[in-house]
Amino acid sequence: MGSPRAGEHGSGFIAVAGRPNVGKSTLVNRIVGQDLCIVTPKAQTTRHRITAMHNMPNAQMILLDTPGIHKAETPLNRSMVEAAVDTLSNVDGILFLTTPSKKIHEQDLRIIDLLKRGKTPAILGINKIDTIAPPALLPMMENYSQLHSFEEIIPISALLGSGVDELVDALVKLLPIGPPLYPPDDVSDLPVKFFISEIIREQVIKLTQQEIPYKTTVVVESFKERGNSVLIQADIHAERDSQKKILVGRRGQMIKRIGIAAREKIEEFLECRVRLELFVKITPHWSRNPRMLKEFGYR
Ligand code: GDP
Ligand code: MG
Repeated sequence: MGSPRAGEHGSGFIAVAGRPNVGKSTLVNRIVGQDLCIVTPKAQTTRHRITAMHNMPNAQMILLDTPGIHKAETPLNRSMVEAAVDTLSNVDGILFLTTPSKKIHEQDLRIIDLLKRGKTPAILGINKIDTIAPPALLPMMENYSQLHSFEEIIPISALLGSGVDELVDALVKLLPIGPPLYPPDDVSDLPVKFFISEIIREQVIKLTQQEIPYKTTVVVESFKERGNSVLIQADIHAERDSQKKILVGRRGQMIKRIGIAAREKIEEFLECRVRLELFVKITPHWSRNPRMLKEFGYR
């Protein structure tokens, strides 16, 4: 069990769990501050939903959403439980966020049940402590510590910032020692890149009304954060010059329409401003070239 110590770098995944309105988004924003445009793919189908990445001198912490848990107003159905347990058992640590209350919420008890099904270390953050008198905290911490063996229980106010540094330190301790998993200023390795290429491809098919064969491939060549927006450059690979002509359109009208439509969808998907640059290339028989297949993310 290696956790980052002085002089060592840690990196890994932390799942953030908690019922709606406990302050998860507020906390994530407070932690990552302005260091990135938050990547929140809504339609993500991958196991891990990346919410944010926080780079520190000694650690890279990738925060993940735990789909299902957040929406659980009623008891989770079986597939939701499975999805949540799957996420929670594939991360290095769990941040379970709650708020002060005399009695522990029904939904919190369900989340604790999920925590107990796995072995992943969890830290409990009690948020919104600015709304209560400090003496009320102790019995509550006591209560929770009897329900589950949390690594630490840390009272915070995500809104005011108190306790947040301590919480981040505790989370960093859960990360395995290792170099950053992603280039700090380039999130091109994230699965997001794949979803973006799919969004563009979808617009190609929609707007050319399938004149272009389905096997048109879109490759996101670069994905760079620029302040509060993202610059995305992508290539659309056609097989023949005749296809390229359709894609570009008369005086570039088609590629322009594809670009505008795709950009809107990508902005919705990433929840931030996007500048999209599209290039149409002719790449004959790309699908038969193993190296290119690999580059395009196909196995
Ligand atoms: P989420 O649904 O868990 O993502 O919760 P949000 O981050 O959207 O926060 C829900 C509400 O709680 C918002 O109105 C926040 O401003 C508020 N909130 C979040 N953290 C705190 C806190 O530390 N203190 C107080 N008083 N309010 C907070
Ligand atoms: Mg939220």
